[in-house]
Amino acid sequence: MKCLNCGTEMMNNQVSTKNDLVSYDMCEKCGSLWLDEGELDKMAFHVEGSIEYCSQDPVEEPEKQMRKCPRCDNANLYRVRFLNSTDIILHHCKECGGFWLDGGELDLIDKQLAKIMPVSGKGFSDFVNNVHVPYWYKRIKRKSSETDTQVQVPPIKGAKLGRTTADQCPGCGIPLDEYTVFSTTFEGCPACKGMWLFKDELRRLKNKVEHGSMRWLNDEINNIEKTSAVATKRACPKCKNVKMVSVLFGKSSIVIDWCPQCHGMWLDRDEFDSVTDYLKHELDSMHPNEMEKKALDEVKLLWGGGPESRYEELLDVKAAISTLINATIFEHPTLVRLCMAAPRL
Ligand SMILES: [Zn+2]
Ligand SMILES: [Zn+2]
Ligand SMILES: [Zn+2]
Ligand SMILES: [Zn+2]
Repeated sequence: MKCLNCGTEMMNNQVSTKNDLVSYDMCEKCGSLWLDEGELDKMAFHVEGSIEYCSQDPVEEPEKQMRKCPRCDNANLYRVRFLNSTDIILHHCKECGGFWLDGGELDLIDKQLAKIMPVSGKGFSDFVNNVHVPYWYKRIKRKSSETDTQVQVPPIKGAKLGRTTADQCPGCGIPLDEYTVFSTTFEGCPACKGMWLFKDELRRLKNKVEHGSMRWLNDEINNIEKTSAVATKRACPKCKNVKMVSVLFGKSSIVIDWCPQCHGMWLDRDEFDSVTDYLKHELDSMHPNEMEKKALDEVKLLWGGGPESRYEELLDVKAAISTLINATIFEHPTLVRLCMAAPRL
């Protein structure tokens, strides 16, 4: 791993104490740090709960200054607001969950934490500054290149890779792989990270929530059929001889590929993000009361019928599109709060 700031080969440090182990990559020239998911919690001052959350909406950055994640193939690091609301801007990879900290930013984080919440211990911060602490057992230092790993990025974060299918990616022509997330199986392309969503399953999910609580979603589905479509050269992965058409997703300006025969849809890598962002935006633009009510209805419908069936219901939703909805529901702070409260409804 080369430092994203100065190009110097980074050093990997593996520090063990009596009870714990942490590994971090550091540029000894400029003090920058690469921390994989879970490592920031260990490195910074310890607090109750995790501090590895940040603003959902990335802080604007000129395209040409965008940095690439040192772990993931072709994923951007986004500028994000540490703990959502502080003035500290860090670089974060939403694929692997890693953080890039420029030199000095770990100190800023520690100072901020000490200011806003009770902190205990000193995390591993002192190791970075070569301060000897009593519980330090040993540190192994190697060139980062000796320990570097590549993260294979699935089309959706957290999806597990399954078998290879006989279907072909409409974009690059290679076989699609099967992925599973939230007990939902979908097909995706290991190279371009596009994904295939089945229409019928979208309907099934829609029917579950027919009472209108997901009207915003129903509208999107209906609009797909009404929109004027533009022919493409891309073949449907399922109906091999049918060419897909480009349609607008809902009232957004997002163009997706859609099969007029089987009604499945193909989302390119960035399109999936755009669609979830769009749905999030739709939720955000609702009046809080209206949204809470809708969210509550949704949670009741999905999880209604006693504690045993809640998870079954949730797992029963086999629709690939439910991944998208789950992602939206679970990433949305208000909905998450309501979901957490659901068992007491
Ligand atoms: Zn550096
Ligand atoms: Zn990454
Ligand atoms: Zn592809
Ligand atoms: Zn088709």
